[in-house]
Amino acid sequence: MGSLFEPKDWTMLSHRVIWHGRRVCHARKPACGACGLARMCPSFGEGPTDPDAARSLLRDGPRA
Ligand code: SF4
Repeated sequence: MGSLFEPKDWTMLSHRVIWHGRRVCHARKPACGACGLARMCPSFGEGPTDPDAARSLLRDGPRA
């Protein structure tokens, strides 16, 4: 990851990855069908891919 991003962006990248995990990509049941990273994620399908089912899993946040 470090080679993909400028060092100046690492702190905010870390916050964003943590936030994504808390809101969308939950450990036990990720909301794949409502995930903005789905097209590039090798784990797509670990959770529901149906958009409605996935949206019901999203945790509240600024963009919910
Ligand atoms: S598509 Fe990937 S990053 Fe997105 S919720 Fe599913 S497992 Fe997580």
